[in-house]
Amino acid sequence: MKNDADVIVIGASPAGISAAFAASAQDIDVTLIEQKNGIGDPPHPANTFFQGMFDKTSEIVHSEYVIREMAGAEIVSPSGSRIVVDAPGYIIDRRKFDEYHVRELIEHNVDIHTGVTAHNIIKKDKKIQISTSDRTFTSDIVIIADGISSKLSALVGLHPTKYPHDIAWAVEAEVEADGIGEPDFFEYHVGSIAPGWKATYSPGGGDRANLGVFVRRHGQDVSRFFDLWLERFKKQKDISELRIIRKHTGGDPIATIPNRIVSAGIGIMVTGGAAGQSGIAYGMRAGEICGSVAAKAITQASTPKALAASKTSAKVLSEYPRLWGKEFGSEYRLGRSALEALRKMDDKEIDRLVGLFAGEDVNQITGTGSPTSKAVRVMRFMLRRKPVSALSCLPSIIRAGI
Ligand SMILES: Cc1cc2nc3c(=O)[nH]c(=O)nc-3n(C[C@H](O)[C@H](O)[C@H](O)COP(=O)(O)OP(=O)(O)OC[C@H]3O[C@@H](n4cnc5c(N)ncnc54)[C@H](O)[C@@H]3O)c2cc1C
Repeated sequence: MKNDADVIVIGASPAGISAAFAASAQDIDVTLIEQKNGIGDPPHPANTFFQGMFDKTSEIVHSEYVIREMAGAEIVSPSGSRIVVDAPGYIIDRRKFDEYHVRELIEHNVDIHTGVTAHNIIKKDKKIQISTSDRTFTSDIVIIADGISSKLSALVGLHPTKYPHDIAWAVEAEVEADGIGEPDFFEYHVGSIAPGWKATYSPGGGDRANLGVFVRRHGQDVSRFFDLWLERFKKQKDISELRIIRKHTGGDPIATIPNRIVSAGIGIMVTGGAAGQSGIAYGMRAGEICGSVAAKAITQASTPKALAASKTSAKVLSEYPRLWGKEFGSEYRLGRSALEALRKMDDKEIDRLVGLFAGEDVNQITGTGSPTSKAVRVMRFMLRRKPVSALSCLPSIIRAGI
């Protein structure tokens, strides 16, 4: 019996779409299954990224989905000290962003099935069978991109994230107030206002903005932190009238870290939030790597026998975690350690730490190069600038395992 496709991707997340695109670019048959009735409909609340991160993908940013270009971000401590980071970024219209990518998939002949939910994945007669709300699909390789707390990965016995309990649970609201959208820097407030990650202010232009909290290890309902953030924000910005247009909730896999993201011998790969690969841009790059490796496994097998022997073999598909680890491993580990240090510091310690960098050109301090060399430069700067303050932060940093 002929397969429905060589590769089937489940979930039209940024990673899933990029995996489907990268695989189809190698001229193999690709099917994408998405449970929503339309891709990007309703749109996912994630709608910002930085140019530096997007540069890791093989794409360029297109003006048709950009709402606003941003100059960078300010990291704000509990007492109001600020680190200003010049880093061009974007606020995007997520619906248009997803529509743009769907058009690309159609041009690449990806067979898209929306309104179809995948229920189970089994291997039978050397093929993978996916039972869905529509019918059973078959393929040789399946890429799971169904988002955080991936149900499908659990069904096939994979634990694709190392620290699943470290998802940052979020409440984010689109809000309206006079001139609230005008500043051209994002603001990320750290400390007890949003333990473990950040409270955000993304000015969307004119009278529109997004306000959110992303909190780790305080349960999934973090609305109490959002309410506190809203009150503090209104006070800080001296805003009396602010209208909430829409609220979103969800999880950000920021500190969850990939674990086993390939099922040896079965032909299953996991990508995006499901695999602890967080964010739009880094998710897209992870999806590109995943889709290219899947396609390579298909095209390398020249005969049916070779196909059965090598296509789904651990050796071929393990290229994916290897290549991902080479590109992102140390950055993710350092990022997690930094977030863990933040989670373990109290507001006074965070104030001291942010105070060390306030008024400094952070890009100058970090310089260029690998994440590790940047981290070493930052530590050196801290020790040179204010050894006593730097050393007072060390216990928390050590507790976090940097
Ligand atoms: C409120 C909020 C705001 C955020 N803002 C940002 C931001 O501004 N920038 C940023 O980079 N990151 C942001 N993030 C993080 C970001 O959402 C994720 O890291 C990123 O979207 C990666 O997506 P994902 O892989 O988790 O999958 P998702 O985007 O969740 O996509 C998974 C897809 O799979 C589909 N699916 C699930 N199960 C099935 C099934 N069984 N069958 C078929 N289809 C299925 C879903 O319908 C969905 O379309 C935000 C997160 C939250 C919660």
